[in-house]
Amino acid sequence: SPWDYAPAPESRDVAGLRPSYRMFVDGEFVDGSGQSLTSVNPATEETLAEVAGASAADVDRAVTAARAAFESTWATMPGSERAKYLFRIARLIQERGRELAVLETLDNGKPVKESRDTDVPTAAAHFFHHAGWADKLDHAGYGANPRPLGVAGQVIPWNFPLLMLAWKIAPALACGNTVVLKPAETTPLTALVFAEICQQAGLPAGVVNILPGAGDIGAELVAHPGVDKVAFTGSTEVGKSIQHRLAGTATRLTLELGGKAANIVFDDAPLDQAVEGVVNGGFFNQGHVCCAGSRLLVQESIAEELLDRLRTRVSALRVGDPLDKNTDVGAINSAEQLSRITELADTGEAEGARRWTSPCPLPSQGYFFAPTVFSEVHQSMRVAGEEVFGPVLSVLTFRTPEEAVTKANNTPYGLSAGIWTEKGSRILWAAQRVRAGVVWANTFNRFDPTAPFGGYQESGFGREGGRAGLEAYLDV
Ligand code: NAD
Repeated sequence: SPWDYAPAPESRDVAGLRPSYRMFVDGEFVDGSGQSLTSVNPATEETLAEVAGASAADVDRAVTAARAAFESTWATMPGSERAKYLFRIARLIQERGRELAVLETLDNGKPVKESRDTDVPTAAAHFFHHAGWADKLDHAGYGANPRPLGVAGQVIPWNFPLLMLAWKIAPALACGNTVVLKPAETTPLTALVFAEICQQAGLPAGVVNILPGAGDIGAELVAHPGVDKVAFTGSTEVGKSIQHRLAGTATRLTLELGGKAANIVFDDAPLDQAVEGVVNGGFFNQGHVCCAGSRLLVQESIAEELLDRLRTRVSALRVGDPLDKNTDVGAINSAEQLSRITELADTGEAEGARRWTSPCPLPSQGYFFAPTVFSEVHQSMRVAGEEVFGPVLSVLTFRTPEEAVTKANNTPYGLSAGIWTEKGSRILWAAQRVRAGVVWANTFNRFDPTAPFGGYQESGFGREGGRAGLEAYLDV
């Protein structure tokens, strides 16, 4: 059986880890004058590297470098020339793909099969896609003489460090903007290898600047008067604080925030396929996914059967060493996140939901949480309403399609949703009524650079990907 096939674990040596990493400003790796960060492998709790941390003065320096690059070269360069750099970056991500995948897995805790098959190739695809846009933006192709905005200040979270970087940097650069990006404090390493890739690609100095640091440096960056556009991905709480901070300024803003997506399974759904999609929706990347299908809404008549199949399938997920190519669920990114998940899951039990935990063995070291399914969940429970951002699935039932839509929409969020049914008309009916930026039909967690991604309501505003994603980086 394919389950018996056990390839050797990926070697950590491939990551080319160094004892320390410096920040990237104006085309050079430099020491930061802020507090340094320690990068930890969440699967083993060992230190991976020391990373230079930025200060407010470093933010200023990076924004100044980005402004100079914007004015002297990048904004006025023909789009066809910018495209060549983006293509080169995409190719280098592919060429260094194994190194990036292993490094991402060490720094983040995600299974290497996910960083290898999703994060790295999708990041490269984003640069290829946007390389294709760069020359179309120059002339009548886009219409209305589009112009870049200037310096983009970008702040990203820890769940898809390289991929979120690609979503932010590729469109900004394609449109002729320059960038100062702050990676999350627990996952700065692939961003700094990406900086090396920019050097390798011969990108002009100052076009991309990478500043590791904690939230205070993110706050300095977004409020810097030299930043023309802010793009933030992270929690709704921080997103709202940035919105307050920028109120009354001319800084353009897009926010990609939290979610609590419903995966709706109708009684005519192809069940085997639906179970795979529900498992993917709940447990892909340990559930550290803004668009995770963390609420399963299942039609009452098939609820019992689906739950049985689901528990069987989840029991077979392998939890453990993220470098093992067979691992399905890796490590939780930090001790802090592990305690948040634990606390929220405990409230589910306290509020009367039925808790089922996968019987999988957990490693004795590192931050791990066994896949958990709550059934008999009511909408008023915290596990039904709050984003857990961990491998925890809440199961609710419905009787009619109208009830399914009402329950799916009973959330302040609106990032994504899934619909499982054989009926095409029902897919269209539900997709028009569920308030979510992305609705997947008979699949889940599909990402493609041509498809705009983004939220409704408290999941934020603005889109990333496709033509709609370019609008956030252009004036027309
Ligand atoms: P977070 O908001 O705590 O941190 C995100 C980033 O913001 C980090 O780089 C952090 O250092 C920085 N930051 C913290 N405080 C800041 C401040 N006051 N000003 C500016 N920057 C600040 O979120 P997190 O815990 O790292 O990430 C998880 C959250 O991100 C989840 O809610 C998840 O849903 C969301 N997310 C959304 C998307 C999306 O596309 N919608 C994608 C991935 C993650």
